[in-house]
Amino acid sequence: MAAIGAIIHRALSKRTLPLATTSISRSISALVIVEHEGGAIKPQSVSAVAAAKSLSDDDNTIAMLLAGSGPSLHLAASRAATCHPSVSQVLVADSDKFSYSLAEPWAKLVHLVHQRGGYSHVIAASSSFGKNVLPRAAALLDVSPITDIVEISGSSQFVRPIYAGNALCTVRYTGANPCMLTIRATSFPVPPVSSDSKLNEAPISQVDLSTFDEDITGKSRYVGHTSQDTERPDLGNARIVVTGGRGLKSAENFKMLEKLAEKLGAAVGATRAAVDAGFVPNDLQVGQTGKIVAPELYMAFGVSGAIQHLAGMRDSKVIVAVNKDADAPIFQVADYGLVGDLFVVIPELSEKLPGKK
Ligand SMILES: Cc1cc2nc3c(=O)[nH]c(=O)nc-3n(C[C@H](O)[C@H](O)[C@H](O)COP(=O)(O)OP(=O)(O)OC[C@H]3O[C@@H](n4cnc5c(N)ncnc54)[C@H](O)[C@@H]3O)c2cc1C
Repeated sequence: MAAIGAIIHRALSKRTLPLATTSISRSISALVIVEHEGGAIKPQSVSAVAAAKSLSDDDNTIAMLLAGSGPSLHLAASRAATCHPSVSQVLVADSDKFSYSLAEPWAKLVHLVHQRGGYSHVIAASSSFGKNVLPRAAALLDVSPITDIVEISGSSQFVRPIYAGNALCTVRYTGANPCMLTIRATSFPVPPVSSDSKLNEAPISQVDLSTFDEDITGKSRYVGHTSQDTERPDLGNARIVVTGGRGLKSAENFKMLEKLAEKLGAAVGATRAAVDAGFVPNDLQVGQTGKIVAPELYMAFGVSGAIQHLAGMRDSKVIVAVNKDADAPIFQVADYGLVGDLFVVIPELSEKLPGKK
């Protein structure tokens, strides 16, 4: 890349926030709201279990709640039973009412299950699904949820970002049970499942839905589901993410980035400006109002580095930025920066990198 006249910027030191850990000893029984698809548990739900485990040093009771219908639900339940050694119970709500992940019936289900189980905590990942269901369930239970938690310092003390991730705020929950939380999955990494995980298989039981309120016409209705037919990894869990900004200039030019992503086995991300300009669909948006990612490698091309974008990617392990403007703010968070024209850099990288043709 020497021909490009590269200037390498060293990253500014990344923020670290030491926090005193408070150990509040009280009996923890957590209910984790689980997302599943095609018989598989979504990784962010296993992160929610890891978060539940970290609520205290004692042996917390952790129940996972799955809802849906058909064989994939039961396959997902059997996988949930072995997904984390701390899971003590898997609860399955099998009904056509949960075939599509609509928030209204789900919120009622959480309400019903909590009334029977009397949980101290109810936890969901801070995904679109979790952000949709948890506040509704909290309203039904008349408690205030605490959202987007990145650190747990005790059973009622949590750290969450504010001001688009520019500051971290420590909050203490003083309300009634249950304490309802959404957690940022990237902040609660999941240990690999050991080969003897069968030994830790949690019991699976059905939720009795005989008293479930039938009158849930709700304010939303399932219309359809579209997903990208791609072999690329999921943006939220990918080890490498290559992101394009407005600097890409068109949808057509994003294909260059897709080619690079294929070579790297990476997911493609985008800024909101690129999404708003119609270059890519909005499920690729990274940032405050998009997805939060923390891959091992994050490569940003033609991205200025607005705080709302940084809010979604600043926890990435290594950040590489390519921008023609040496003063672009993205360089302040980048570990490696290249001042150059992306229309030269991306094709050159794609050509020189080994990988799938
Ligand atoms: C409430 C709110 C929420 C928001 N949420 C999000 C969010 O979730 N995610 C998000 O991304 N944004 C979000 N935004 C928008 C955000 O403020 C920025 O507008 C946006 O991130 C800018 O996107 P960009 O970097 O692609 O575009 P620009 O800021 O226009 O930057 C384009 C960059 O490309 C560089 N460039 C141009 N041509 C080339 C070239 N040939 N080679 C190399 N570099 C080139 C330019 O130097 C420039 O730095 C939000 C804004 C608000 C107000």
